Amino acid sequence: MLGSLRSIVQEVNAARDLPAVLDIIVRRVRDVMHTRVCSVYLRDKQSGQYVLMATRGLNQDAVGQVRLAPGEGLVGNVVTREEPINLEQAEAHPAYQYFPATGEERFSAFLGTPIIHHRNVLGVLVVQQAEKRRFDEGEEAFLITLSAQLAGVIAHAEATGALTVIGQQRREAKFTGIAASPGVAIGRVHIVAPQANLATVPFTCCTDVDAELALFHQALVNAREEIRAVGERLKGELNREERALFDAYISMLDDSSLAVEVCDRIRQRVSAPRAWAEVMLEHVRRFEAMSDSYFRDRAADLGDLGARVLMHLREQQPSRQDYSENTILIGEELTAAVLAEVPREKLIGAVSVKGSGNSHVAIIARAMGVPAVMGAQDLPYETIDGAEIVVDGYRGELHVHPGAELRRRYDSIVAEERELARNLDHMASLPGETADGHRVRLWVNTGLMADVVRSLERGAEGVGLYRTEVPFLLRDRFPSEEEQREIYREQLEAFSPRPVTMRTLDIGGDKALAYFPIEETNPFLGWRGIRVTLDHPEIFLAQVRAMMKASVGLDNLRIMLPMISGLGELESARKLVERAHKELREEGYDIPMPPLGIMIEVPSAVYQVRELAEHADFISVGSNDLTQYLLAVDRNNSRVANIYHALHPAVLRALQEIVRAGHVANTKVGICGELAGDPGGALLLVAMGYDVLSMNATNLPRVKATLRAVRKADMEKLLQQVLGMQCAEEIEETVRTYLKRIGLKALLQPVSGQ
Ligand code: PEP
Ligand code: MG
Repeated sequence: MLGSLRSIVQEVNAARDLPAVLDIIVRRVRDVMHTRVCSVYLRDKQSGQYVLMATRGLNQDAVGQVRLAPGEGLVGNVVTREEPINLEQAEAHPAYQYFPATGEERFSAFLGTPIIHHRNVLGVLVVQQAEKRRFDEGEEAFLITLSAQLAGVIAHAEATGALTVIGQQRREAKFTGIAASPGVAIGRVHIVAPQANLATVPFTCCTDVDAELALFHQALVNAREEIRAVGERLKGELNREERALFDAYISMLDDSSLAVEVCDRIRQRVSAPRAWAEVMLEHVRRFEAMSDSYFRDRAADLGDLGARVLMHLREQQPSRQDYSENTILIGEELTAAVLAEVPREKLIGAVSVKGSGNSHVAIIARAMGVPAVMGAQDLPYETIDGAEIVVDGYRGELHVHPGAELRRRYDSIVAEERELARNLDHMASLPGETADGHRVRLWVNTGLMADVVRSLERGAEGVGLYRTEVPFLLRDRFPSEEEQREIYREQLEAFSPRPVTMRTLDIGGDKALAYFPIEETNPFLGWRGIRVTLDHPEIFLAQVRAMMKASVGLDNLRIMLPMISGLGELESARKLVERAHKELREEGYDIPMPPLGIMIEVPSAVYQVRELAEHADFISVGSNDLTQYLLAVDRNNSRVANIYHALHPAVLRALQEIVRAGHVANTKVGICGELAGDPGGALLLVAMGYDVLSMNATNLPRVKATLRAVRKADMEKLLQQVLGMQCAEEIEETVRTYLKRIGLKALLQPVSGQ
């Protein structure tokens, strides 16, 4: 059964569009289960009814005609119950409804399973049999497993079908993801696809068919030459079998049927890279689905060959650095480095298929003030390169090919946003304090050079977190000590005399350096942050030396250690920092030992705050990671994004305990996670007693405006109220309502964007 399951899923994955997907399902399932009928019903978004979309065994005329509301007939009952219905004699069931068009009176046994995607019943998969019999447990389990596996593919195929790009017929289509960076952007899609990945080649049309055909033939010639040359070079080192592989590659490229298939698609105006990728993927999947393991292994060879030719095709194409004035960057998994490649003035929005609101790329988008949607899993992004799109970073919505009416609505939100930003401009010169004069330090999180100007313009009083990994991410090797000194000096100088908190390298998790890959099955629980740098003192020492050298004459440096989980790590790191300081003094640098602080972002640290605070000069809570680890919710996984709550009662209690214990040890306590930049979160944190709130420069004026509008005693009342609550949603709602009631919501977000 497992073999059949895998091969059906693979075949479905390779299908071109929704009708092909459904056809494979009904054909293969009927064969594998030896039933007389297999049908798929899918929900029609407009009417909410479930429509017969494909069948083998029922009359074909019934396709598109038979429609059932939830609760209606057996299929409708599968929908409302969200579980299988398995009947020996369908017609005897009280919910049975007869549709003459189907000819189903001939069938007695009925098994229907729901196809559920993200808690929504997308459709129902049904098998039927003529005789009276109950499908056995194994058959039922098979259909349930298959439905669960197919749900994502069907959702994706449905979404792709919503976009009719080919033939220039463009329909407005809406997709949803996670609201990751607020704001609205209306612009043109620019797809970032990994260089040689067949699966992510965007769908683009070609205008000059002859030129595209020539491009394709040239790429084949180049690939053949390359393979031949590599084969020659390695001749002495390969055995006969391995050499034969090179010959096999060349003969595959010589195979005219492959080229004919590709050329046919190019003649239908599909671009050469896309046509090649489509054809090769179909072949790869066909090989993968074969039962013979020899052929299955050849699938990998074919994929490798496909990637090589693709690389040659890409090499010949004009560079993809032609960003339009209003670029909306979209990719399977955007990274900070990719974001930084686009000239700042041209980048107006970002969308990632993978990732979540607390992924680092989302944090950077927020810092840049670029509206972003993450986890847009069903967006068929490969097909929309160059299309017009609206990114709604408030609601986590995307609108491809927006119509005039929708555009008008979003244009007015953009205008409102500009107006709001102007209204907050005057905040820059006002102190960070509550309505009754309680002083709170409002600092900024930085990383990109652009942050400096924005932060200063917005009246930042210091830097609470300088993410040093950002300059590391933007290079192709570790920056040298001197290169680092220069970068750090710019930061320290720009903010002087204000304090700048530089965090030592925090890589791992979702922050991978291309030149220092860390591949782990559980990266967020693995080699991350301080764990990496303590294992590599040469990297750590070079970095802290560069920081201290950069601070000469400024004395505004603070060093902060990420991911501290116990006293041992703090002590080991302190020894290294002290050693670097001593050596620099011996080398003639006149610098004081900078304050050394730690981040509290691991649960074990929460329970040792007092001891840690006694040994640290300051502490700062990394609430992004702390939330992830307390709730055991991967901050980067869109599937569980709905249960990642920074205002979860457990997180709030931990935050309160940290500040209490830190103050017992007479240590200043700050917070630099995203919660500090959330107006509602900021009210609660000030009520708890946090001394420093550090946030992105975009949010600084909003948070300042909020704090200045509320008295500390009222914040404390709100805190007491929410601390008595038991679920995150209730707390979020209470805080939202509070902001609205005091009239702040309208000041912080465009009314129409809510
Ligand atoms: C945090 O975890 O809250 C934090 C500020 O660090 P980062 O988001 O860079 O992991
Ligand atoms: Mg962190």
